[in-house]
Amino acid sequence: MPDDQVVELHGNATYARCLDCGLRHEILPIRTAFLNDGVLPVCDSCGGTVKSATISFGQAMPQGAMARAEQATLAGDLFLAIGSSLVVYPAAAFPVVAKRNGAQLVILNRDPTDLDDHADLVLHDEIGPVLSSATGVN
Ligand SMILES: [Zn+2]
Repeated sequence: MPDDQVVELHGNATYARCLDCGLRHEILPIRTAFLNDGVLPVCDSCGGTVKSATISFGQAMPQGAMARAEQATLAGDLFLAIGSSLVVYPAAAFPVVAKRNGAQLVILNRDPTDLDDHADLVLHDEIGPVLSSATGVN
């Protein structure tokens, strides 16, 4: 799947960003410095706090990513909710929006979710083996 078709709603743990200016930083030197000193490095550009580029509890959801996710949800006729407990909002609302918009909803999760009764297909199983058997990739 092309990168521009992936919406990283909760960010990406493979790199870091400055919380103040948004500058991207590579994660390895930050992780190494933190493990050595127990202190997070500051941003080269502005002196702000640098952390993994994930959205933590208490941080605002990225508006652009939320808008793109909503557009994709409304445009699709099939919504796959894979590996989510579907309890953390606002992201957990997207399967509901898709279903109300006429999409088929498939949930693949090891444990039951509150949305299982609304889904067209529910698989309580491990993601890796299920998707490997579906794609033929082992
Ligand atoms: Zn900065």
